[in-house]
Amino acid sequence: MSLYKVKSRIRAAASKAGRNPDEIKLIAISKRQPNGRIRAVLEQEHRIFGENQIQEAGQKWPNFRKNFQSIELHIVGSLQTNKARQAMVLAQAIHSVDRPKLAESIARRAQELGACPDLFIQVNTGEEPQKSGIFPTDAASFVKACKKMDLPICGLMCIPPINEEPALHFSLLKKIANQSGLNALSMGMSADFESAIKLGATHVRVGSAIFGARD
Ligand SMILES: *Cc1c(COP(=O)(O)O)cnc(C)c1O
Repeated sequence: MSLYKVKSRIRAAASKAGRNPDEIKLIAISKRQPNGRIRAVLEQEHRIFGENQIQEAGQKWPNFRKNFQSIELHIVGSLQTNKARQAMVLAQAIHSVDRPKLAESIARRAQELGACPDLFIQVNTGEEPQKSGIFPTDAASFVKACKKMDLPICGLMCIPPINEEPALHFSLLKKIANQSGLNALSMGMSADFESAIKLGATHVRVGSAIFGARD
C-alpha cells in the first residue's frame, strides 16, 4: 500500500460516515521502518509522524528535521517517567498518558519547560492485564485529576484487544470521551482505521499500510 492509498481510503470512509475528512489527522507510524521509506513519505509532503520509543525517535527525528520543515511528531508508545522530559522536548503530542505517576511527572516538566505537548489519555478498553492504560471505570476521575494539574488533555486513545471486534472498543472510547467532555479520539490502525473513522476517530495511527511491513 502507500500514503496515497491510505489517504484516499480515509477520505472515502469519512464521506461514507458524513464526516469532513479534514477533521481526521493521519499519523504515519514510522517505528522500526528504514529511513529510506520515511524519507519517501516526507518527500510526498506528509509531515505528521508517530513513534513508540523515545530512544528511536530521538535518533531519527532531529536529523529529519534538519532537512524537512514543520514535522509534527507524536509519541504513541508507553512512556517511562524518566523519559518524559525527552518526549516533551521532542514531540508535539503524547498519546500514552496511562498512569498518575506519569501525569505528575509531565506536569512538573511542563512547569520547568513552560510548554507541554498535546496529551491523550490511554484507556485500556479491553481491561487487559498486560496492556497499559487507565481502566474505563477509572477514566473520568483520571481526566479530572489531570485537568486539575493543568495538563492540556485533548482526548483519549485506545488499542483494542487483538482478538475482539475493534468497533466495540472504539464506541466505548467515544462514550468515555463524551462523558469527560473531550473531543479528540486517537483510534484506528492499519487493519481497522476505517471502522474507527466511522465511530468518530480524529487521529488515526497507521504504520504498515503506509510504509510496508516492519522488520
Ligand atoms: C505500531 C503502532 C501503530 C501502527 O500499527 P500498524 O498496524 O502498523 O498500522 C499504531 N498505534 C500504536 C500505539 C502502535 O504501537
